[in-house]
Amino acid sequence: MRNGKRLFGTNGVRGVIGETMTPDLVLNIGAALGTMRPGTIAVGRDTRTSGEALAHAVKAGLQMCGCDVVDLGILPTPALQYIIRKNGFSAGAMITASHNPPEYNGVKVIEGDGTEMADEQIIRLEDCLFSRSFAVVPWDRVGSEIAAPHLVEEYVRAVVDHFPEGIGTGMTVVVDPGSGPAAITTPLILSRMGCRVHTINAKMDGVFPGRMPEPTQEGLRRLSEMVVATGATFGVAHDGDADRAVFVDERGRYVEENREFALIEDYICSRSKGTVVTPVSSSRLVEDVARQNGCPVDYTPVGSIYVARRMLELIAGGTPVAFGGEGNGGLIYPDHQFCRDGGMTAAMMVAVLASRQGESLSGALDNLPAYHLIKDKYVTSNPRELVGIVERAFSDDVQDRTDGVKIIRDHVWALVRASGTEPMIRVMVESADASVADALYREIMQVVREASPADCHAPPERPPH
Ligand code: MG
Repeated sequence: MRNGKRLFGTNGVRGVIGETMTPDLVLNIGAALGTMRPGTIAVGRDTRTSGEALAHAVKAGLQMCGCDVVDLGILPTPALQYIIRKNGFSAGAMITASHNPPEYNGVKVIEGDGTEMADEQIIRLEDCLFSRSFAVVPWDRVGSEIAAPHLVEEYVRAVVDHFPEGIGTGMTVVVDPGSGPAAITTPLILSRMGCRVHTINAKMDGVFPGRMPEPTQEGLRRLSEMVVATGATFGVAHDGDADRAVFVDERGRYVEENREFALIEDYICSRSKGTVVTPVSSSRLVEDVARQNGCPVDYTPVGSIYVARRMLELIAGGTPVAFGGEGNGGLIYPDHQFCRDGGMTAAMMVAVLASRQGESLSGALDNLPAYHLIKDKYVTSNPRELVGIVERAFSDDVQDRTDGVKIIRDHVWALVRASGTEPMIRVMVESADASVADALYREIMQVVREASPADCHAPPERPPH
C-alpha cells in the first residue's frame, strides 16, 4: 500500500505483460477513468509490442462508459499531456512502462490540465475499479473513436516556438530516442531550431534492439561514440516514454543528471526569479545554484507528481516558481507545462549552450561544484520500521522528514527512505568530500545491519526513476 493506493505506484500502474499487466485490468482502468472523467479522452502509447493491444483495452473501457476517444497513436508522454490541456480534453491515458524493460507495460492517467492524476483521485479511481462500480452506458450512448496522430505536431510546435528562431544554428546534435516515441519529436524539434541532427536508435521498435528503455551510461555507449565521431555539440537520449532526457557532452562523457539539472536551472534562474521545486533526493548542487541566483528551494517527497503539484500549489498561492524537477533528467518548465518533458529538456540544452557564447557542454559543467554521491539499497521485510530506527539513531542531527528521513549536517547529507514499490530501503549520502560521505554512509549502514541483520543486502546500484 502506497499512500493508500493499492495498484498504482508513483508513476502509474506497471507490470509484466500476461502476469500482472493484462488487457482486462487495463479495460477496467479505462472504465474507471471513463466513470470519473466523462467526456473526450485522449489515448496514447509508447512503442512497446503490447501497446496496441492495451490501447484497445483502455479505449473499450472508456467507450463502454460513454467517453469519446481521441487516439493519438505513438507519442511521448509529455506530448500527450500537452495535447490534452491544449484541446480541452477531459483526461487521458498513456500506455507506457517508461524506463522498464520491454516485457513490462502500464498506464499513466492524466488529468484535463495535463498533470498526472494526484494520489487522492487515484484512490477514487482504484475504489471504482475494485468495486466495479462503472458507469456503463446503454447501447445508444456508447462512445466514439477518432484517430488523431497528427496532433503530435501541436506539441512539437509549442516546444520550438518557446525559443528564438534559429537558436540552434551551427550546433550538431546526436539524438538517441532508444527506439521510443521521441523518434518522431526530438529530431524534428532540434532541426527546426536550426541544429544539424544525427540520430541513432531512431526507428520505433518495441523489441528495443539498440538499447533498453532506461538510458544508462552503458546503454548510451554508441551515442557517445557517435557524438565524438561527428564532432557534435552534445548528444541527448530519452527513456521509453521521453519524459526524461539525459546527455553526453562533446567528449562523449555521460552527464550525471543532477549536473544536467543544475546547468539548466542556472540558465533559467538567471533569467526568471522564483522558487525551485525538487525532491529531497536531489543533489545539494540544486540548492547551490538556486542560492547563487537568489532563488529559494522547496523540497518535496520523491516523485515527479509531487514536484508538479507543489509547483502548482505555490503558484496558486501567489509564489513565483522558476523551475522544478528531479535529479534523473525529468525536468519541469512552468511556462510550458507542469510535467516532466524530455523533448523540452533537449531543446533547453540548445538554448543553454547558445547563451554561453561557444563554451562547450563539458566546459559549462566544469564550472559547477563537484559532489560525491553514494546510492545503496537494503532489502528488508519492514522498510518503514527500519527508516524509523535510523531516524531515532540520528535524532541529534538536523532532520527533514518530507520523505523518509534526511539527515542534514554542514558538509554532508543522507536520505533513508522506504521504497514505494519493493520491500527495501534506499540510502543516499552526498558530500563534496568523498571520505565524509563514506563515513556517514558507514554509520548509517551499521545501524541498519544491527537492526535488521537477517535481511540480505544487495550490492549498491542505481535506483529506478
Ligand atoms: Mg519516463
